[in-house]
Amino acid sequence: MGSPALVIPGDLVAALRAARDVAVLTGAGVSAESGVPTFRDAQQGLWAQFDPRELATPAAFARNPKRVWDWYAMRREMVARVAPNPAHFALAELERRVPAFLLATQNVDGLHQRAGSVRVVELHGNITRVRCADEGTVVAQWCEPADALPPRCPACGAFLRPDVVWFEEMLPADALAAAEDAARRCEVLIVAGTSAEVYPAAALPAQAQRAGALVVEVNPNETPLSADADHVLRGPAGVVLPALVAAAFPR
Ligand code: NAD
Repeated sequence: MGSPALVIPGDLVAALRAARDVAVLTGAGVSAESGVPTFRDAQQGLWAQFDPRELATPAAFARNPKRVWDWYAMRREMVARVAPNPAHFALAELERRVPAFLLATQNVDGLHQRAGSVRVVELHGNITRVRCADEGTVVAQWCEPADALPPRCPACGAFLRPDVVWFEEMLPADALAAAEDAARRCEVLIVAGTSAEVYPAAALPAQAQRAGALVVEVNPNETPLSADADHVLRGPAGVVLPALVAAAFPR
């Protein structure tokens, strides 16, 4: 038997078409079809030798900055080799069709922007940027000097680090505030490709729903959000999001 046919409910299509303000929250699943492993996938195969909790923390960087830098260099190279998929392009198209729009992403891969999304807030940073580990100033796009890794901040001499949010770190306040504002304001919130377990991003759907928004989950698998979402569209984001956007905004 094949997989069940995707059905987009008519009331959801009508609500999306009528909405003046739409917000989207994305996670690793949206980049899965581009070939970027989700965190669950990362526990298997080539990535299994790396435990993010041993690498993506301030303590790990203090213990062994070169090891952490090298792990991010590997991930950055992988992201540079892949391309946005139909899910990214569908969200860029949705943005062009709705007057007020915000896409809040937990992904650090920059694929939404490469697909043409403009109103994007990066809740967990971006792997292609580098900042000073002491002062936090973003100093550059990723750089790979031959002599010493990690390289040093040109202003103060501290190590540079990837401009991403590690475990035990706070989210950038302005990005989180923008996402919370969009969640409270929007009429429809689409939550795609996230396990909806990592806070504070995981709180955004409930905030939106309390403020009266319709919450739509796009995910092939059940998550803690599934029971509360107003609509659950089961399937890969690269199939479901283009179908949803095309149904609401036929060309
Ligand atoms: P996740 O890996 O926890 O969840 C991915 C979700 O995507 C799953 O629910 C899965 O069912 C779904 N999915 C898989 N393929 C899909 C597809 N084709 N289409 C749609 N959905 C699909 O990722 P997350 O929710 O983004 O994690 C949240 C945050 O947790 C991350 O942004 C990250 O900051 C943090 N985190 C980081 C690490 C790390 O390595 N630093 C590890 C774990 C979590």
